[in-house]
Amino acid sequence: MLDPTTDSPFRGLGLLAIEGLTAAELTPVLDLADQYLERTRAGERKLTLLSGRTLVNLFFETSTRTRTSFELAGKRLGADVINMSVDASSVKKGETLIDTAATLNAMHLDVLVVRHPDSGAVRLLAAKVNCAVINGGDGSHEHPTQALLDAQTIRRRKGRIAGLTVVICGDILHSRVARSNIHLLNAMGARVRVVAPPTLLPPEVERLGVSVFHSMVAGLTDADIVMMLRLQTERMAGQFVPSVREYFHFFGLTADKLKVARPDALIMHPGPINRGVEIDSEVADDINRSVILDQVELGVAVRMACLDLLTRASGH
Ligand code: ASP
Repeated sequence: MLDPTTDSPFRGLGLLAIEGLTAAELTPVLDLADQYLERTRAGERKLTLLSGRTLVNLFFETSTRTRTSFELAGKRLGADVINMSVDASSVKKGETLIDTAATLNAMHLDVLVVRHPDSGAVRLLAAKVNCAVINGGDGSHEHPTQALLDAQTIRRRKGRIAGLTVVICGDILHSRVARSNIHLLNAMGARVRVVAPPTLLPPEVERLGVSVFHSMVAGLTDADIVMMLRLQTERMAGQFVPSVREYFHFFGLTADKLKVARPDALIMHPGPINRGVEIDSEVADDINRSVILDQVELGVAVRMACLDLLTRASGH
C-alpha cells in the first residue's frame, strides 16, 4: 500500500500541474486510483476518510464531467461538498479572484477545486489560501486530473503506458488537456504525436516533446491510442479553421482514417464530443475501440485518489 506521506506527488500547495512530475510520483496516484475503482465497483460507495472535511468546487467556467466527478469523489470519501459557479465575465479578474480567495479562506475549507478561463489563475488563487488546491482546468494551460484519468484508462486497457504511440489530434493550441497529457505521457515513457492544422498548434510545440503531423494518415499510422480534442471555440479570437465541414474532412476521426492505426488502437476523448466535427459517431460509439465512457468512470476514481493523497499530504 502506498505511503502518501512519503510518496505523494502533491508538493506544496496542491495539484496545480502535471509539468515537472515524474513517473515515480505519478504511478502511485494511478495505483491508488485502481484501488478506489475496485472498491467503487464492489459497491463501497460511502467511505469515511474525508468525513468532517469540506471540499468546494469553485468553477468560473462551465463543466459537466469534472465538476460532477469531483463532487462524487468527495461524497464517496465522506466529505461535505459545496459547488460554487461564478460567471468570470461578470467580475473584474485579479482583484476579484483575490477577494474570492480571502472569502473562501475565512470559511476554513480543506480542499478547493478551481476551474478558471485564464491560464495561471488557479496558481494565483492557490497562493492566497491556506487549503489544498486542485486545478480543475485553467485556460489553455493544464488540466492535471484529466491527464491522470487518461493515463489510468490507457494503463488499464493496455497494461502499460511506456513504449505506446499516443496520437493527440485537433485543437492543440487551446487545449489544457493536450498540455497536461503531453507532460504526463512523456514522463511515463510514451511516444507522443500531435496532429493538427498549423493554425491550431502552439509555436515550437516540438519543444514539449512531441512529433508534429499535419495529416491524419501520417499521424495515425501505427497509433496505439488516438486522443481526439474538441475545437475550443470559446478560446478562439477569430477564425482558426476555414469551415467545420472542411475541418471534419481533413481532421475529423472516421473509421476510414483509423485504418492506418494499429488494429487494437483505442479511441479517447475528454468530452464534450462534437459529433461530425472532430469525431464521427460511428467511431465515438464503437464499443470495441472507444473508451470514452471508461474515461468518465475512471475520472471519479482518480479524483478520489487525488483527494485522499492531497488531504493527507497537506495535513488539511
Ligand atoms: N472538458 C475538457 C476541458 O475542460 C475538454 C474540453 O472542454 O474540450 O478542457
